[in-house]
Amino acid sequence: MTRIASHRGGTLEFGDSTLQGFTATSKMALEEVEFDLHPTADGAIVVHHDPTLDGTTDVNGVIARMPLAEIKKATIRYGAGATPLTLEELCTIYAQSSVGFRCEIKPGVDGIAYDDFIPRVVSVLQRQGMLERTTFSSFLIPCMDDIAAATDRPRLWLVSPPILRQLGPETVIEVAKAHGIREVGIHINTADEDLKTLFLSAGIEFGCWAAHTTGQIERALGLDVKVFTTDRPTLAIAIRNHHREGV
Ligand code: FE
Repeated sequence: MTRIASHRGGTLEFGDSTLQGFTATSKMALEEVEFDLHPTADGAIVVHHDPTLDGTTDVNGVIARMPLAEIKKATIRYGAGATPLTLEELCTIYAQSSVGFRCEIKPGVDGIAYDDFIPRVVSVLQRQGMLERTTFSSFLIPCMDDIAAATDRPRLWLVSPPILRQLGPETVIEVAKAHGIREVGIHINTADEDLKTLFLSAGIEFGCWAAHTTGQIERALGLDVKVFTTDRPTLAIAIRNHHREGV
């Protein structure tokens, strides 16, 4: 069965990385919750997509340059008053849930990986009892290497459309193998049956991201990918249920 990952807690249904989105997702009939992490200036870890608060909240600022107390004053847009969560707070929401973590390691505002960040993420997840329920992901190869150095947990490489286009699938597979990567995520609009077959025959698991519309979700289910992320988890569950009834 194709797995569903609620992207940022279901951005299009609950706002970007909000308490209500993550709480709702924790009770849904799906398999994973996707979220992104950034360090704060004072050693906390915040769950947020962008490296800044500018586009997603009523506050401007770079998360890595702000103390947690300042970040907590931000209100997430379209988030029913929610404020950014810490990784510990997210772990508490999922302590009793059967939904697994899909943890994306983001770069900083300069596009470069944060120094010594991943071991801190791993140790928080371990302390909170969530590490064994976590798959890691990143667009950045250096982060993929750092994840492997910090933990044996599964990791998947997010392959952006420009990377796929510039390198071509054969070179993407070579890079993946050179870094011990056994799973990729491809943008749903660049995924097709031939590409999936190519990756699977190279021994690399194949999933998709950004399946937000009905058409994109049906495409992901039709391709029978391992997992896809979606901003509309409730819609994705309904379509998957319908899809399964038809099989
Ligand atoms: Fe993400």
